Amino acid sequence: MAPAGDEREEETSVMIPTRVTIHCSASKNGQAWPAVEIRKFHMAAPPQGRGFKDIGYHLVIQPDGQVERGRGLNAQGAHVMDAAGDIFDVQNTKDNEGNIGICLVGDTLFTREQFDALRSQLESLRMTYSINSWEIRCHNQFRSAIAQGKTCPNMEIGRILAWYIGHHEKAIEQYLLRRAA
Ligand SMILES: [Zn+2]
Repeated sequence: MAPAGDEREEETSVMIPTRVTIHCSASKNGQAWPAVEIRKFHMAAPPQGRGFKDIGYHLVIQPDGQVERGRGLNAQGAHVMDAAGDIFDVQNTKDNEGNIGICLVGDTLFTREQFDALRSQLESLRMTYSINSWEIRCHNQFRSAIAQGKTCPNMEIGRILAWYIGHHEKAIEQYLLRRAA
């Protein structure tokens, strides 16, 4: 047991997930980017990396549909920047509180397997933590993202929800990566 006041105590603070934010990795469409590599990038010192203490996202969904665990679901993530745009404070911003970050690997187009995996992850998270459907957002809805000119994940939340809640498959058609036959 660590003694009281041990500096590691801070690491044990528990986040209760209350919402979900969808991101993209802004990397080549259809090309895998393993979570271990994203973690290296996020932990590397700026300007090459981000200087985070761990990967910023909680879940990473690869083009083949594989879901990789990032930061623990009960640890605050680092995936929405604060309004001042200070990247070093990103882990302390209110916008990361209770906020599960899901990263779809790719830029503007995502595979059917990724959408299927996204759906099952959303179902599981919402069931486990009683998250309402209106607590699902895209990164581009945050004020800080708008201020930064960020369009991540290059999808509209209205289309995502029409697909996810309304099962309108056509709503996401324009985001689907079609593989050559
Ligand atoms: Zn993002």
